[in-house]
Amino acid sequence: MRFDLAENRFVETDVAADAWAVIGADRSLRWSELAAEADAWCESARAHGFAADVPVILRGHKEASFFVAMAGALLLGAPFVPLDTIYPDERMRRIADELGATMYYDASAERFAAFRTNGEAAAKVGVPPESTTATPLRETGLAYVLFTSGTTGTPKGVQIGRESVQALVDWMSADFALGTAPVFLNQAPFSFDLSMYEVFGTLALGGTIVLASRTLCSQGAALLDTLATHQVTTWVSTPSFAQQQLLNPQFSEQGLKSLRTFLFCGEVLPAALSRQLRQRFPAARIINTYGPTEATVATTWIVVDDAVLAEHPRLPIGRAKRDSQVFIDDGELCIAGPHVMRGYLNRDDLNATRMFTHDGRRAFRTGDLGSVDAQGLLFCHGRIDDQVKVGGYRIELLEIDAALRALPGVPAAAAVPLRRPDGSVARIVAFVETGDDATHLPAHLHDWKARLAARLPSYMIPSELLGCRVLPVSVNFKIDRTQLAQDYRDAHLKS
Ligand code: AMP
Repeated sequence: MRFDLAENRFVETDVAADAWAVIGADRSLRWSELAAEADAWCESARAHGFAADVPVILRGHKEASFFVAMAGALLLGAPFVPLDTIYPDERMRRIADELGATMYYDASAERFAAFRTNGEAAAKVGVPPESTTATPLRETGLAYVLFTSGTTGTPKGVQIGRESVQALVDWMSADFALGTAPVFLNQAPFSFDLSMYEVFGTLALGGTIVLASRTLCSQGAALLDTLATHQVTTWVSTPSFAQQQLLNPQFSEQGLKSLRTFLFCGEVLPAALSRQLRQRFPAARIINTYGPTEATVATTWIVVDDAVLAEHPRLPIGRAKRDSQVFIDDGELCIAGPHVMRGYLNRDDLNATRMFTHDGRRAFRTGDLGSVDAQGLLFCHGRIDDQVKVGGYRIELLEIDAALRALPGVPAAAAVPLRRPDGSVARIVAFVETGDDATHLPAHLHDWKARLAARLPSYMIPSELLGCRVLPVSVNFKIDRTQLAQDYRDAHLKS
């Protein structure tokens, strides 16, 4: 059994209906159960005022019901907006405001819930308290809207059409050699688009998704036991997550006998990690994929085998996937094809500068620096702007700056990435202007971490906050984050 996106229904319903579809952190579902629950979810959503093209926020963390809700939203034609509980309430509310939504689906409670604070808004437009106020989006036929870090301090909604998801699954079926009914590790939160590989891979290929919670992922041995028990065939994660598992000797072909594929995306795949994986899993295929959320999970790919490793000390990101184009314009990687987003929600300003048409197809400027070698292999050389990746999570430093400026008595602030020798970000620290030469903070900022946690997910919170008299600026009057990183190192060398 599987879910056919084009027909928008479960198909081949008499084939392996008893096979596992979802192994959740809380309960598991067979394909027949998934189909029945998705239908029921759809009915319940309709009763709460959701309909085709009306966005529906899904909130939770690795519950089987989260997956049911995504399948149900597809059936209904309602674009789903996945929000992991790693996002604090305030961030969820800002996203809800952007969507005009007064209700969301709570996957842990398995019910629709109202946002307590904006009942007033619903009353004003005469909507019953048990219904959403969200109206159909201007873009129709979207599969999901994924919110990523935004430079203005508010996350921005990436609108992905169903045709883009179809292109993703067509590519996965044609080129990834995942076999029939692959069993996927799902570790990334559903608010991170990497996870859409497993969500749509499972649905389209009639596979199984094993939802690994944060708690399980923090217990290396238990995680591997779970993956071995469910005979996971396809590992999907950022390279950082796989790197952490290397600490466990069981993370090997002997420990995970069914594992055949490593599917990576989201950040640079280090050659050293690939070599270690080749040793631990000699028979597995390692696929490095690259691409921003704005182009439906990934756009380029390369199978990293011994020949590629021998030739490239820094790994290429490969070639454009079928039916898409990748080219370099003034040093910047640009993407065209049916998998490019329909645009940022309510951000015509950004759409005007980042989106364009190329050979009659939607195209997107990635903000990544790129190059192409004589064999046509593409390379990514990092960002043009202030976007960084920490452990695979995408972060706009300007969004952290905005949250820091909302602290009491902070006129100016800057988040500063501390980089490893290979350029990857080890952690983020931050500086606030205090008008004082000392780096210690004034007493009224003692609770800065708790205040930031109300607004930002944990991976965006700087590990340290320091004071400075005035933030240094570069020649073009931008905050000089490189100088601040140096100041941080100097201060630590002295102490
Ligand atoms: P996200 O939208 O979270 O998937 O982040 C997309 C960004 O992550 C890209 O624009 C790149 O800067 C970076 N990225 C994603 N995949 C790779 C990769 N395989 N190699 C290098 N950078 C990558």
